Amino acid sequence: MHESHEKEGVVKYTVQHATARLLLPPEMPELFSWRRRLRQLELIGEDAQGLGYGNISIRLYASPRFLITGSQSSGLIEVDQRHFAEVSVIDLDRNALRSKGEIPPSSEALTHAALYQTRSSIRAVVHVHSHAIWSAYKDHLPTTKAEVPYGTPEMAYEMIRLHKRHALADLGVIVMGGHQDGVVAFGRSLAEAAGEILKLIPARG
Ligand SMILES: [Zn+2]
Repeated sequence: MHESHEKEGVVKYTVQHATARLLLPPEMPELFSWRRRLRQLELIGEDAQGLGYGNISIRLYASPRFLITGSQSSGLIEVDQRHFAEVSVIDLDRNALRSKGEIPPSSEALTHAALYQTRSSIRAVVHVHSHAIWSAYKDHLPTTKAEVPYGTPEMAYEMIRLHKRHALADLGVIVMGGHQDGVVAFGRSLAEAAGEILKLIPARG
């Protein structure tokens, strides 16, 4: 069991991570193919400084647990089962998660966790970075407060607050006002969640 308490840098949460091989759900092919598509569109990727951004997750069966891409996997073109972690929440207030897999989960796992807690019919969450979507829809679609940083309990509570305030159902998009270019979509399947993002991309040419 490995425990990390990183207060600075990319990871701001506490995760009790156990290195283990995962039992994979039947949606894995869908997960790989959507992850590949989002990576090709650079909605998930790596910035000029080599910092990864973007992550996707799916709920595991009817449980509160979910499978999410691991930390430092965003820049990879192809991922496989070694790049996912299975996450459950210990305490949203303390930003405390438990995970298992061959690598620890993305530092934005708490945001995903909040959405899964909001509605049991939400089965997939996609977090991407898109300057085009962020600048066009910030403050037009439900938007988290500018002073709230990503990867914190405050961001998780923003997800819950916006769900209530805008009466969001199990399909939609939230813009992260204080997280440059950050957008989160959720749906009853990965195709639905990713589709919410794709339909906001401006047509090219
Ligand atoms: Zn992000």
